[in-house]
Amino acid sequence: MAALLDAPYDLFIGGKEVPGTRGERSHVLDPATNRVLAEVAIASPDDAHAAMEVADRAFRESNWATDDGSRRAKTLFRLASLLEANLEGFARLETRNMGKPLRESRGDIAYVVRTLEYFAGLADKVEGETVPVPGPRFDYTVREPLGVTVHIAPWNYPLLLSIRSVAPALAAGNSVVLKPASLTPLSAVAFARLAREAGVPEGILNVVVGPGKEVGEALIDDVRCRSATFTGSTDVGRRIAEVAARRLLPLTLELGGKGPVLVFPDADIDRAARGIGYGIFQNAGQMCWAASRLLVHESVRAPLLQKVRAIAESLKIGSGLDDGIEMGPLVSKEQLDRVLGYVADARSDGGTVVTGGNRAPSPALSEGNFVLPTILSDVPTSSRAVREEIFGPVLSVATFSDVDDAVRQANDTAYGLLGGVWTRDLSTAHTVARRLECGMVVVNEPPLTYPQTPFAGVKASGLGFEQGQRVLESYTRRKNVLLNVGVAKRKT
Ligand code: NAD
Repeated sequence: MAALLDAPYDLFIGGKEVPGTRGERSHVLDPATNRVLAEVAIASPDDAHAAMEVADRAFRESNWATDDGSRRAKTLFRLASLLEANLEGFARLETRNMGKPLRESRGDIAYVVRTLEYFAGLADKVEGETVPVPGPRFDYTVREPLGVTVHIAPWNYPLLLSIRSVAPALAAGNSVVLKPASLTPLSAVAFARLAREAGVPEGILNVVVGPGKEVGEALIDDVRCRSATFTGSTDVGRRIAEVAARRLLPLTLELGGKGPVLVFPDADIDRAARGIGYGIFQNAGQMCWAASRLLVHESVRAPLLQKVRAIAESLKIGSGLDDGIEMGPLVSKEQLDRVLGYVADARSDGGTVVTGGNRAPSPALSEGNFVLPTILSDVPTSSRAVREEIFGPVLSVATFSDVDDAVRQANDTAYGLLGGVWTRDLSTAHTVARRLECGMVVVNEPPLTYPQTPFAGVKASGLGFEQGQRVLESYTRRKNVLLNVGVAKRKT
């Protein structure tokens, strides 16, 4: 495979790299320096419709949907192996484009490999059922692929959050049009090239890059679109739900979060501190499921805060490509300004900045979008900094007095993605897990997921779920077949 940054990046439609009808290109930047990293073709709505047409034709005319599932499985396993063989190149590409430390990018690409393998293993296990009916009749259901499925991804885990939904859609026999985020499109296009090499038929996996409002909506509004999976902000999710509702499209929305992490007095404080540090400073806090609101029992606030602060202040910040770096830059200058804006709000609302709160001071980092790991305390709950998703390495700290108070504060948010609980008491663990209004709970763990475990948000964090065997139901439709198998009585 060619070196990943060698050539300009085009759209990937019908198995070919094409420049797009407008001939426009945009610059993709390295967030550690804000210098140009690559050029990428920008699609127009016409290109989006062309991709949908090609995908629809491939769905009808190739054998992808009609072949035995085991053949799709083989192709997807081959794709997983190819990606594994190119893991280092993809990880470096992801780090250069998105900024996260190489160690994290390696983990992301390994997760994509595992996701492909997991869904490859399910490609020949999409089963229907028989249903008892009265009389000489036989009733059964079959699960059929939908047709063309559209997938719109964000920039924080560029390839991982693209393939998290693309893999089950392909395994179920659909053809796919993927739109990665404009800031981080490179790994998706490189992945499509790899899919071609693995034998995914032309037109079954297409990638278009372009502005969300124009190109993303053109894809979802296209008459050939049979389902949409969107991962991104809650505001855009609402807009997509409106467009999808007009067309009565099945929709999966994976949206923002403002995750609470609850620390009870009996918790292992050292482990909790490490988990909390990981849950907010990993990927520079640019995570939907970031554990961004620490709620700690008042009796252990001081020792816990001291440890989390020590972690924040010891993190090695720098270009994700450098050895030993633990936190990279934010993805863009806009994101840096946004994060610092929330910190300024917290300050003016009466909160205290325990540590951080500014750009990283090192002159060597001045060109990039580096911000210090930040801890805020005593911020009023009415403050934007506590209520809205910051999407940066910013932890807010508050205390609780008992379980009821902890649960009330944890649920006092529009969001409901992931909640964390730290306790050694089984009863507290189960009781609080049951009472938290969120789609996922981790107990004595930092945010953690696997391709086989459902990933879901409730309230403003989303609709539906991803991952796990049952997600194949989102990418297939159930058809019921009722037969009268009675033999007509012969007249004697
Ligand atoms: P975003 O909503 O700005 O963009 C996400 C994608 O949607 C991009 O590809 C963008 O081009 C596209 N888009 C924008 N407007 C569109 C429109 N009108 N129609 C169709 N597509 C459109 O989000 P982002 O800034 O890229 O990512 C950060 C957000 O994503 C955060 O809110 C984060 O919490 C959320 N997120 C959620 C999950 C999850 O699984 N729940 C995972 C990661 C990120």
